Amino acid sequence: MFTPDKIQQHIVASIREFVARHVIPVASELEHKDEYPHEIVAGMKDLGLFGCNVPEEFGGLGLSYTTFAMIVEELSRGWMSIVGPIGTHSVICDIINRFGTDEQKQKYLPGLASGDRRGGLALSESDAGTDVQRLRTTATKVEGGYRINGSKMWITNGRYGNTFVLAAKTDPNTDPPYKGISAFIIEKGEGFHVARDIDKLGYRGVETCELYFDNFFVPDANLLGGEENQGFKHVMTGLESERINVAARGVGLARAAFEDAIAYAQQRETFGKPISHHQTIQIMLAEMGTKIEAARLLTYSAAEKKDRGERCDLEAGMAKLFATETAQEVAWTAMRVHGGAGYAKDLNIERYYRDAPLLVIGGGTNELQKLIIAKGLLAKYPAK
Ligand SMILES: Cc1cc2nc3c(=O)[nH]c(=O)nc-3n(C[C@H](O)[C@H](O)[C@H](O)COP(=O)(O)OP(=O)(O)OC[C@H]3O[C@@H](n4cnc5c(N)ncnc54)[C@H](O)[C@@H]3O)c2cc1C
Repeated sequence: MFTPDKIQQHIVASIREFVARHVIPVASELEHKDEYPHEIVAGMKDLGLFGCNVPEEFGGLGLSYTTFAMIVEELSRGWMSIVGPIGTHSVICDIINRFGTDEQKQKYLPGLASGDRRGGLALSESDAGTDVQRLRTTATKVEGGYRINGSKMWITNGRYGNTFVLAAKTDPNTDPPYKGISAFIIEKGEGFHVARDIDKLGYRGVETCELYFDNFFVPDANLLGGEENQGFKHVMTGLESERINVAARGVGLARAAFEDAIAYAQQRETFGKPISHHQTIQIMLAEMGTKIEAARLLTYSAAEKKDRGERCDLEAGMAKLFATETAQEVAWTAMRVHGGAGYAKDLNIERYYRDAPLLVIGGGTNELQKLIIAKGLLAKYPAK
């Protein structure tokens, strides 16, 4: 059994209170209206949550990945969408902190830590998601910088964010193609366009955008780490932390669905007794509770490895795979426990059911996680 330390317990208690007071009462209405949760995001900014993984020397909280996973679980339990504004934001903080030059860290990390700068990751394109090395956005060298041309798809925080890490081809002819990808820190300006907000099944309230770049200029100083053709490594390392964070979202969402289901099962009566007295329902509760606990432990195990400064592709992949499949399954099982009531928009169950599939797809699909896990296992158990 994992026991959080005193500081972690204190942080979790304050996030839980924030969620109870400011998120749960308004989540359903905002979600159904697909309205951006400005007040909640402002509250998260006041709590310092935009700086969770930014070192203290740059004004952040400098928290461990494990503590961050606990925070994400609590937020996601209230409403998965509100993790959106700090999710890929935290990934780009991680990438800039790890690979940025001293000047880039000084310039960007304090604003990202305070939340005055809102970040996003501009990686996927309409033709390049899992096979990201196929991306076609180009960065062409010109006097003093680069001109960016192309488009990006599915970019969380595309409308309300202002600072992004963007991946583009500086050398479109390399073989393999990933060797020609560079990463840039970009700020909105002339030539940066938000083409549209994508209408979605779930994960509503926060924006997911298509962006396009028309001769958008990025100065040399914003080439991440000051080195061309390192972008694939930069972004992939960042995605490791994204997978831990997506796993934690899965744990939070699954917990919300489970807590609603176990409460309902004790109050709803059929055949003269609460449905929690029927063994079929008990089996559902037992399976949900066990899988959530296992998902949480896998998530912490990956986060702790990352906290020790080790690569954790294998563990982060396992945590993401298991926690998000659990979220999907628990959301559906919680709906079954609720019967017809779970299908109506009066309760949160239908929202969990619509939100969960994104976790299976985003941050690298679960099919991709299985490939990553298999690669890690084959390396761990080489042929004799
Ligand atoms: C709401 C939302 C928010 C997002 N936010 C961001 C963001 O902020 N920034 C960003 O850059 N991206 C973002 N994404 C994009 C996301 O990362 C991609 O959607 C995801 O990586 C899958 O890529 P794809 O959609 O192109 O699917 P595809 O790559 O086309 O995959 C289609 C299917 O084929 C399977 N598949 C593909 N290749 C293989 C293979 N080799 N073996 C087995 N199966 C395979 C996939 O698992 C999937 O089932 C977001 C997506 C969504 C839906």
